[in-house]
This record gives sequence, structure tokens and C-alpha cells, in this order.
Amino acid sequence: MEWCLSMPKVELHAHLNGSIRDSTLLELTEGLIGKGVIDISEVEHIIKKYNRSVAEVFKLFDLIHILTTDHKTVTRITREVIEDFASENVVYLELRTTPKRNDSVGMTKRSYVEAVIKGLRSITSVDVDFVPRCEDSKSLFSSVPAIGHVRKRIYVRLLLSIDRRETAEAAMETVKLALEMRPFGVVGIDLSGNPNIGDWATYLPALKFAREQGLYVTLHCGEVPNSVEIKNMLDFRPQRIGHACHLEDEHWIQLKSSKIPVEICLTSNIRTLTIRSIDVHHFGDLYKAKHPLVLCTDDSGVFSTSLTEEYKYAADSFGLGRREMFELSRNAIEYTFADSKVKEDLRKFFNSVAKKY
Ligand code: 5GP
Repeated sequence: MEWCLSMPKVELHAHLNGSIRDSTLLELTEGLIGKGVIDISEVEHIIKKYNRSVAEVFKLFDLIHILTTDHKTVTRITREVIEDFASENVVYLELRTTPKRNDSVGMTKRSYVEAVIKGLRSITSVDVDFVPRCEDSKSLFSSVPAIGHVRKRIYVRLLLSIDRRETAEAAMETVKLALEMRPFGVVGIDLSGNPNIGDWATYLPALKFAREQGLYVTLHCGEVPNSVEIKNMLDFRPQRIGHACHLEDEHWIQLKSSKIPVEICLTSNIRTLTIRSIDVHHFGDLYKAKHPLVLCTDDSGVFSTSLTEEYKYAADSFGLGRREMFELSRNAIEYTFADSKVKEDLRKFFNSVAKKY
């Protein structure tokens, strides 16, 4: 399915620290072995495992964060993750990450985000648009590339994540930081982190404030059965939700009538056993119901996948052809948190290549 690779794609649910190249992770791990920072025997079995439970995935994130939370590494992984998405023809990426404090290296939430932005700025191998453009700026796809021009083009916008382990105050700090960083392409807030931990209501003041101030909000919703939380999250009416695995009948009715777009992460849901098997994945039902959907990777590094692989997986599993997959990808433009100019540029670009699919 070469066309899954060449097709322009839109990625709206990718966690920075979940999307690190294996080679980089290995290099960083090797750098720390012997320094007493990590005991490889404690984590080796999780690193090598194929199907990791939700709990094991979060254990792995704790390890990844030990490896990556210094400014230089944050800058490096940001650059690499964007290069990787661009290389598989992702033309619009909303990259999310949790701003972290790491006193041992003088890192604050703010300097963490600055390191991410430095990573964006440092990319030279692909054309990246990450700062909301001024009225007269050129669109990324407006010019037709010369024959033989192989440079990839990608819009990148950032979402700052609130981790469910954080306090209400730390969440508010993240929202205020997101507001400050809007000129550098931060468009919204995500609520993520171990779904078995914490109460999402802790973050309601921060999430409400974000929305009042014009930031977009997406919530990890229904990764584990939690009827009350799911209902309350849907009542909040975020602009998107991620996963939506454990909804009950009444939630499906509410979701479908609300038309809240769902970020679908097939491989992630299957590997973590959040969904029993692909043939019962809710993608099928939502697709048939023409509910707003977008295929995403979640954590391309942790789950050894790519957006191309997710498109192949959906096409194979649900019997969809290239035209249907192209429309799925094109429709996702409407669910981005981008401004109208970016959306228009993307629509024109998709229209210009539509004949191929
Ligand atoms: P980071 O925010 O550090 O760049 O990316 C990793 C973090 O994203 C994890 O520590 C976790 O908080 C969040 N995350 C990544 N994948 C998932 C997922 O599948 N579900 C949830 N709830 N959170 C996730």
C-alpha cells in the first residue's frame, strides 16, 4: 500500500515523548547505563515487550522521562519527531507534550517548552510552519514545487498536556504558559496521563480557564471504564476527545449527537488491550455513523507504529479503499485546531492531489 505512505496525512494525537525514534532511545539509554541512574535489569523486560499493559506503558514513560528531561534532549527529540512525521507525508501535525520541571538540570515548565520550540526552529531538512502567520505571510503549500523538488512541508502546532498526576495549581500554570506561548504556535491543552490515577475534576478550573481564553481543549476520555467521568467529560464539550474506548450506550448516543471529533489510535488501543480485538474496535461503528474521526498514532515510538501504518491497518481491517482513506485524511483538516488560513491552504493542497487517490 504505497499510497498510504504518499498520501498527505493529518496527525492530531501524538505525544512527543511517546514518539521518539528507537535508535535515539537506545542511544540515550546506553549513555546512562553504568552511571547508576537506571538499573537496566528493572526495565529491560518492559522495553522488550510487544504488548504492554496500560500500567506497563506508563512505567515505560517514567523511564523515557528520565532519559529525555534535559533541554538538549527535548530539543533533539522534537526535531527528530517532526522530521519523522514529515518524511511520511504528514502535512499537519499537532504535537502534544507535558511541560516538566526538572530542578536537577534547572528546567522549568517554561524552559521545557522553550526547548521544544528551539527544536522546531532547528529543523533545516524540511519546510516547517509553526508560528501562526500574519495576514500577508505566504501559505506553506501555495507554491507548486519545482519538478524534482523533494523537500517535505509540514505545519506544526503544539498542545500542552496536563498530566493526571499533577495538582490543580500545576495545571493552571500549564494553561497560563500555553497562553503566553500562543505566538509560538501553542493552540490548545490536552488532558492525559495514567487514566487510573487522579480525578479529572481537579483540572476543571484550569480547563475552563483555557477555554474562556480561547485555547482549544482535547481530553483523553474513556481509556478505562469510568462511567461518571466519561459523562462529565462529554458534558464539558471539549473540541475533541482521544480514544473513547469504554463508552456505554448512553455515552455513544451523547457523543454522536454532540459530533465531538474522536482521535482514534488503533495500534495503541490493541497493544494495551484497551480494546479486545480490531474487529470490535469502535472505529467501525463511528465510521459507519459518519461521526467525525481522525486516525492518529498516539505514541509511534512506544507502539512501534507510524501514521502510514495506522492508515494501512484501518484500510485492511475495515475494508476501506484508497479513496475512502483519502477522504478520511482530508476530513481531518476540519478537526484541527489551526486557524482558517492554514485550513484553507491544506484544503487546496488536498484538492490539488485528490485525483491520485
Ligand atoms: P510527553 O507529554 O512527556 O511528551 O509524552 C508522554 C506522556 O504523554 C505520558 O507520560 C503520558 O502522560 C501521556 N500519554 C502518552 N500516551 C498516552 C496514552 O495512551 N494515554 C494517556 N492517558 N496518556 C498518554
